[in-house]
Amino acid sequence: MPSLSQKSILLPTTPSQPYRGRFAPTPTGPLHFGSLVAALASYLDAKAHQGVWLLRIEDLDPPREDPSAHALIQQQVEAHGLLWDETLISQSQQSTHYEATLRWLREHGHLFACQCSRSKLKPTQGRHLGRCSFDPGGAPSSSSESDFAWRLSVPDSEWSFHDRVYGEVSQNLLRDVGDQVLKRRDGFYAYQLAVVVDDIQSNISHVVRGADLLDNTARQCYLRACLGAEPLTYLHLPLATNAAGQKLSKQNKAEPLDLNSVSQNLFRALRFLGQQPPSALAQEPSSTILEWGIEHWDTSLIRPSDDGLIN
Ligand code: GLU
Repeated sequence: MPSLSQKSILLPTTPSQPYRGRFAPTPTGPLHFGSLVAALASYLDAKAHQGVWLLRIEDLDPPREDPSAHALIQQQVEAHGLLWDETLISQSQQSTHYEATLRWLREHGHLFACQCSRSKLKPTQGRHLGRCSFDPGGAPSSSSESDFAWRLSVPDSEWSFHDRVYGEVSQNLLRDVGDQVLKRRDGFYAYQLAVVVDDIQSNISHVVRGADLLDNTARQCYLRACLGAEPLTYLHLPLATNAAGQKLSKQNKAEPLDLNSVSQNLFRALRFLGQQPPSALAQEPSSTILEWGIEHWDTSLIRPSDDGLIN
């Protein structure tokens, strides 16, 4: 993996630090079974390592959000006995950090302003392959709306990381991924920027999340490296699907978690994660199920699903 030798703007995570994990839902709607799988696995992995587990609401994109989801998600997580440590983080409150990071990246030559339209990028399947020549002049990056986006320039080289379930994953950053938008034309910060900045700010050491994000990880490792931060330890989870084989998602109108069957939900999620709880556990209160889960947590039982594979 290429290395970048630059000073860190933010405190990097060092391998000797204790385990710090997180669950980071986007408030586009209530949590469903697939979200519970990610919440539970990240919680159990943290607690089985005597670690800290944080809840972060990724409310970066108000037009796509459901205003009631912010509170509802917290209620759903709490109702399942998944009690987060420390103060809840909302990305909508983190703009100062995002802005400072953008400014630093810009000063260190990692960003360029881009006016390319979606249709222009159609022939490359939406990927942006190399800096374009648009010059924004002295436009400050803090302007909310502008007629350009800020993109991270990525090198034409392979970046790899080890995933605890999916093994070695490698992508060519330029050809497979393309230059990444970090701040959109509409003034909103991109997920790719926020997730990296927040993981660094919160000193996260381990990421446990759905395999739909596996192909976002190499670019996130690259951005971490630009900022002088070490790669994290990653574990991606197989995706829960509906009867038609589609990933459960808020877009597919996945059923919200039923808070009248919290124990059954947790029990099903444990089984989905390959764990082998005894049937009688499904009748126990959530605290007993979680205790069992922490004590017996075995990530070697998690089977990768095909949908997490990068082609
Ligand atoms: N907010 C993302 C989602 O709900 C998860 C981001 C992450 O865990 O890195 O899919």
